[in-house]
Amino acid sequence: MKIPFVDLYAQYMSIKKEIDHAIETVLKETSFIGGKHVIDFEKNFAEFLNIKNVIACANGTDSLEILLKAHQISEGDEVIVPAISWISTSECLKSVGAVPVFVDIEENYFTINSELIESKITSKTKAIIPVHLYGHPCNMDNIMEIAKKHNLIVIEDCAQSHAALWNNKTVGTIGHSSSFSFYPGKNLGAYGDAGAMATNNSEIARICKMISNHGQEGKHNHQMEGRNSRLDGLQAAILNVKLNYLNEWTKKRQEIANHYNKMIRNPKILKPQIHSMASHVFHLYVIRTKERNSLIEYLKNNQIDSAIHYPTALPFLPCYKSLNNSITDFPIANQYQNEILSIPMFADMTIEQIEYVSDILNKF
Ligand SMILES: *Cc1c(COP(=O)(O)O)cnc(C)c1O
Repeated sequence: MKIPFVDLYAQYMSIKKEIDHAIETVLKETSFIGGKHVIDFEKNFAEFLNIKNVIACANGTDSLEILLKAHQISEGDEVIVPAISWISTSECLKSVGAVPVFVDIEENYFTINSELIESKITSKTKAIIPVHLYGHPCNMDNIMEIAKKHNLIVIEDCAQSHAALWNNKTVGTIGHSSSFSFYPGKNLGAYGDAGAMATNNSEIARICKMISNHGQEGKHNHQMEGRNSRLDGLQAAILNVKLNYLNEWTKKRQEIANHYNKMIRNPKILKPQIHSMASHVFHLYVIRTKERNSLIEYLKNNQIDSAIHYPTALPFLPCYKSLNNSITDFPIANQYQNEILSIPMFADMTIEQIEYVSDILNKF
């Protein structure tokens, strides 16, 4: 049986009629940039999150950059970020001249180790960007307490965690603001690039909206120099359809993870854990093994796709060489980067597919 890592075509086929209709509508209306569908999506996603403001933009990386600017993070400021994430989390800092200060991840949940954050705070620290990595929420109680004590801004990176909960609160509504990506493979994905910012702070929301549309507040009223980072009508219309399925798809991902948890019994494979305060949305199902290279090869021979998220922890990437990050400062990230492996996980996985993958893993 051939098992893809994700199957976006199967998902499209399951909602084809609605998607095709949505696309046709946008074409008929020629509402390509901005317009009704974008406004609807901002409203719908704000309702979904239970937050005051959602501002759509072109992609998740832009949303991080725009939020940094809106929160007035600037040249020379230090921002605390986890040692394992997609590069956008630290890369965005370059746009305002801020510097990433990496913190090692938790042993059990792969997210930033909140116990280590305070030791990295200096007089230059302005913000923390917690990442709810793989769909597992960070310990937001600890992070918000530290932020309050040191007067820091918290921008949640929710690119992998749509609909995840920490302590019964939806992630993206706990920090001062939050960033979402709707890259096609994300739990809520468009059919191209798309992103959004969310916040209960209406002044931050107003500035984000201005920045993302050339600094305009109303047509030709340029209050500042901004940029072009808008969501297009086609993506918004697609997201409006898919948002209606997000809860159902999230439940399916959680069921698949449960199924994997029950089925996989191989002492060479460590399964992901869930914090008691967290509702994990399994953007990725990440296992650990000391024999990763041979496992990847073995899965490939059995026609099962797998992937590594991510093969090099952020502090050790060539682009951060000048920061002189030492391996001894990030023992967990350093170890886990060589052990983590993401196995197939998508809401449309069939029982047969889940059981085949588990069975093959057990025979490794
Ligand atoms: C995908 C992702 C982003 C960036 O999103 P894009 O829409 O691809 O720019 C940011 N942070 C994390 C953790 C991501 O996984």
